[in-house]
Amino acid sequence: MTSSSPLYAQVALDVPLFTALSYRVPEHLRDHIAPGQLVQVPFRNRSKTGLIVALSTELDDPTLAPKIRDLYDLVDPEPLLSPHDVRFLSFVADYYLSPIGEVVRLAIPSAVRVEGIKHYRRLPEDQRTPAPNAPQTPLSLELAGALASLSDTEPTPVAALRESHAELTYHRLAELELRGLVEVTYQESASLKPKTERYFKLLPRPRGTLTGRLGANQLQILKLLDGMPSLSLPEIREHIASPYSSLKALEERGLIESWEEEVYRDPFADAPVEPAPSFELTLPQQRAVDAVARARQAGRFEGFVLHGVTGSGKTETYVRIIRDTLAAGRRALVLLPEIALTPQFVGVFRSHFGERIAVLHSGLTAAQKFDQWRQIRRDEVDIVIGARSALFAPINDLGVIVVDEEHDPSFKQEEGTRYNARDMALVRGKLARAQVILGSATPILESFYNARQGRLTYLAMPERVAARALPPVDIVDMRRGPHNPTAGPSSLLSTRLLGALDDTLHDQKQAILFLNRRGFSPCVVCEACGHVFHCPHCDVSLTYHRRMEALRCHHCDFSLRMPESCPECLHTGIDRKGVGTEQLEAHLRELYPRARVARLDRDTGAGPRLQQLLTSFRRREIDILVGTQMVTKGHDFPDVTLVGVVLADMSLNFPDFRAAERTFQLLTQVAGRAGRADSPGKVIIQTYTPEHYSLLTAREHDFESFAERELAQRQAMGYPPFGHLIALKFEGANEGATVQATRNYATAARRLLRTERAFGDAVSMLGPAMAPIARIKNRSRWQLLLKAADRALLRRFTIRTLELAGHFDAGQPHHRNVRIIIDVDPLNML
Ligand code: ADP
Ligand code: ZN
Repeated sequence: MTSSSPLYAQVALDVPLFTALSYRVPEHLRDHIAPGQLVQVPFRNRSKTGLIVALSTELDDPTLAPKIRDLYDLVDPEPLLSPHDVRFLSFVADYYLSPIGEVVRLAIPSAVRVEGIKHYRRLPEDQRTPAPNAPQTPLSLELAGALASLSDTEPTPVAALRESHAELTYHRLAELELRGLVEVTYQESASLKPKTERYFKLLPRPRGTLTGRLGANQLQILKLLDGMPSLSLPEIREHIASPYSSLKALEERGLIESWEEEVYRDPFADAPVEPAPSFELTLPQQRAVDAVARARQAGRFEGFVLHGVTGSGKTETYVRIIRDTLAAGRRALVLLPEIALTPQFVGVFRSHFGERIAVLHSGLTAAQKFDQWRQIRRDEVDIVIGARSALFAPINDLGVIVVDEEHDPSFKQEEGTRYNARDMALVRGKLARAQVILGSATPILESFYNARQGRLTYLAMPERVAARALPPVDIVDMRRGPHNPTAGPSSLLSTRLLGALDDTLHDQKQAILFLNRRGFSPCVVCEACGHVFHCPHCDVSLTYHRRMEALRCHHCDFSLRMPESCPECLHTGIDRKGVGTEQLEAHLRELYPRARVARLDRDTGAGPRLQQLLTSFRRREIDILVGTQMVTKGHDFPDVTLVGVVLADMSLNFPDFRAAERTFQLLTQVAGRAGRADSPGKVIIQTYTPEHYSLLTAREHDFESFAERELAQRQAMGYPPFGHLIALKFEGANEGATVQATRNYATAARRLLRTERAFGDAVSMLGPAMAPIARIKNRSRWQLLLKAADRALLRRFTIRTLELAGHFDAGQPHHRNVRIIIDVDPLNML
């Protein structure tokens, strides 16, 4: 079997390289190689595991052919990922200008990557069977030596073998295998072995066999097993305290048999499963289900925006759509912002679909992830529910992807490959010809706009189920002065909000007080007129920097000395408003010594303490819950009748062009927490800018008007969805070096803009500018923002800029010790 032309494998390695590396496929592997397989390859002086992303008979650059090395070996002939998955990963790497190896790492749990270490055991003479194509020549001396050094009982890991026999390449070792001299096994690293359980079952026995001599325990075991297909050791232990010796005795007498069976560790085994009620769907729900069914029946990709107000029954709609998908023989993926916050959601799915669900989230141990991953890959589950990383779960026959709360920023990963799971869900859906449902009470403007352009299908659920009303929203003007008596004595809580709190406590209902505080810098606002400082060029708020007593734009680096008085009303009380949840909690305890006050924020974490807090709030053991945006996620608390937003300006004045949209989303979501059940709710928003359209439209629950207004603004500035952005972020311990690196890239970009018409006309660069959070962990942060209406052009421009700035050259002196991050479609401008 000889072939004329060589075959090359493109292998993604977990190293910071943009592209996959080419290796020659050795002749003996030619017929066994496929994309999606894990392989061992030489890299520098080491051997590394990588994933084959493509095979080809030609090289992009044929002159490199003499330099191409042979790949060593297959780690596992069974591909780890399907061709679909591999194509998807390649797309993601390409789109985010991210090293392919880093993207592959997202898709394969670490446990799988360390698994598959080859072990060799010398076979006894009588068990040796050479392969038909085994060489007939005598064994070389080195191989004979290696063979002699192998144990015939204990398998030797390949690394140890190569240590003692450096000349042994994988390729040569393969010859031992081919000659049938060794047995090759793959052994998983001990800590991540699949978990097994011993099972027992009764063997049929001839009538009249004596059982009289059996002990009491043994008799009881036989009785227990009688009529059961099988029982596991823990199940038997539930009835008999220490059954092990009795079981062994029974097995020796041939009365029962036992075997090991793999069991999966279930991280959600203890999660409550509520019984699933069955509803008659509302008309909008039915319409949504039908629209998705049409696309499914036609076998085509279609993206849907399910715009349903809070409480309109989106979850139930997802359940029906998924049930239909499973009935059509396909599988489902559900992406949630933060699973830890929404155990109820998983509970609903569990009650509908039982054990056919895998749940993936960041709280799992490596072993649990490994279990779930394998279960998914073996088609043992039909539904995968998870946070953003579940996007990469190896699901076959994917029929539908649901992205719930699609507006949530946590779908964007802010480290490593900075992907957005919401965006890539559409891509994965397209590749799989699946339907993709983006659900939210506040769709992002990109969704709304794309629906209007006909690229996505818009499905509206404008009313709450069972005609429950959306709560009335009250905006309280916090500006101080004689014209405004409502502001009240405290700058924290207005008379109006205090009054409402009194009423709520009096009626024995519950309240949520929401404070948007990200704690990087206080928001600067005139206490008298509510004036906020904006960049004259970029339409973003200026950020206060204490170090220089200045206000700065972090897009274009415009700056302003921190003024003494307000340029609008000349009032001298320009205040740096910054209040934290802790202060607010303390203040409330003082005001209401008899009320039970609790706080939920980042300090609470995402673990058991959070669950505890939410449970006791639901059980009404807490009267007032103070919290950050974590309280806005989809909780359902029937007795919450008051929601107070302590200072809307904190998110409104965020130095980000999405600030108005985020505020609208937050207010709408937080308002949705009020009056979920039969008690009517009320929402109070405190602010220094009561006339802002984000607040006014949120008060009217008027998404469309907000979207119109905001879209016009975005269009004027060329921001998404009308333009696209790529941010280059620079971080370094040395401020000078960081600035220098940023400047080098800026210079490269400027040169391209000047010299190439196609770029000059269509791309703009903002910056270099200091990031709003100028230092994190003692590292200076600077950024460049690239913007264009044409995404492909922007991508080309970015790559050219990177090339020109020497980004891909090894050992560039300017960039040493400065981390350069490429953020495509940046969401976080801090
Ligand atoms: P959303 O996710 O849109 O905020 P949910 O799916 O949580 O809304 O539904 C709100 C409430 O309405 C839930 O308690 C749910 O069980 C109930 N519900 C959903 N659909 C129906 C229906 N068709 N008839 C009656 N109740 C429903
Ligand atoms: Zn600016």
